[in-house]
Amino acid sequence: MTKKTEIDHRADLIGLDRDELLRELIAIDEKPFRVKQLWHWMYFQGRKDFSEMTSLAKTSRTNLNNLFKIRRPEVVFNKISNDLARKWLLRYEDGNEVEMVYIPETDRGALCVSSQVGCTLSCSFCHTGTQNIVRNLSPSEIVNQFMLARDHYDEWPTPKDGKRKISNIVLMGMGEPLFNYDNVAKALKIIMDAEGIALSRRRITLSTSGVVPKIKKCGTELGVNLAISLHAVTDDLRDQLVPLNKKWPIAELLRACKEYPAANNARRITFEYVMLKGINDSMTDARELVRLIKGIPAKVNLIPFNPWPGAPFDSSSRKTINQFASIVNKAGYSSPVRNPRGRDILAACGQLKSFSKKPLNTRSKL
Ligand code: SAH
Ligand code: SF4
Repeated sequence: MTKKTEIDHRADLIGLDRDELLRELIAIDEKPFRVKQLWHWMYFQGRKDFSEMTSLAKTSRTNLNNLFKIRRPEVVFNKISNDLARKWLLRYEDGNEVEMVYIPETDRGALCVSSQVGCTLSCSFCHTGTQNIVRNLSPSEIVNQFMLARDHYDEWPTPKDGKRKISNIVLMGMGEPLFNYDNVAKALKIIMDAEGIALSRRRITLSTSGVVPKIKKCGTELGVNLAISLHAVTDDLRDQLVPLNKKWPIAELLRACKEYPAANNARRITFEYVMLKGINDSMTDARELVRLIKGIPAKVNLIPFNPWPGAPFDSSSRKTINQFASIVNKAGYSSPVRNPRGRDILAACGQLKSFSKKPLNTRSKL
């Protein structure tokens, strides 16, 4: 763990749902209609300073400022890669750190948000997996990653040129979002709220390594796009690459995908498949993949393995990846090869890691 930042003991308003916000306001004798006003200032206008909330009476502004804060994480650094992906190292008040990445495209861009400090799982190809989990992020810490990025690109309430740089969110940063489901759900509901940030569920993708019991809930309650980190087509291999498979094997995972409430032909489930040289990249694997996902509205994202220091894998060659893609494609599935972004600054998929560590005696097991 790195040095602690100075602690501001005022309670954070970010991350509270409307009912909680109401309770806080009533407790300090503020009127219930302030919830709507505050929500507008915090999540539509993006203001952090109560003194700028001009529709509130001056006494209320002072009152609120004495007791509450609207928190953003501290930025330890932000760097930009050769291909314009940007990575932030963010520090929370207890000194724990996470990474967040912005991946710009021509007319839009995705913000890759973290859901945990580290990850309890240890997929063998993933850098985050080599870091011991420290803790779940709170709803506030998830929402405020996004809010900080909007500050950075000056997009409150709307960008000057009318085009949002941050048009999408992917929960593909550090951590397994479905192992922190309650906090992730609360954060996403705030982000989707129509009177605030109002990002559509169609612009949000949650990626999971396969926490089967939470998949249905995610579809009914949040309705966001689902991405599944599949990476292997036999249980023997997937047990080694994604150890969570021992708990919920491929057949169970795919059953949950078939039943995912928010998927249809217009909104397909993305299967992520990291291409590991000589491990999972044969043409037999490709054919088996196609057989497995039959009947699921799906697309397959082929991800060239992104190296990290000490990683025990190599990426498959471009030729192999293309041949693999063509088999999947001929079977009727779109199978784009993901262009690695931000590799030079270790910002690409699976390269994120912070130096926050969990004390050894509290290490959690699956
Ligand atoms: N824990 C969730 C969310 C993280 S998403 C999950 O695993 O789905 C990060 C994505 O990048 C996952 O699909 C993951 O399997 C993939 N990934 C991890 N390490 C990688 C690496 N070194 N190269 C390419 N992709 C990787
Ligand atoms: Fe955790 Fe996902 Fe990395 Fe696996 S791939 S260790 S689940 S972050």
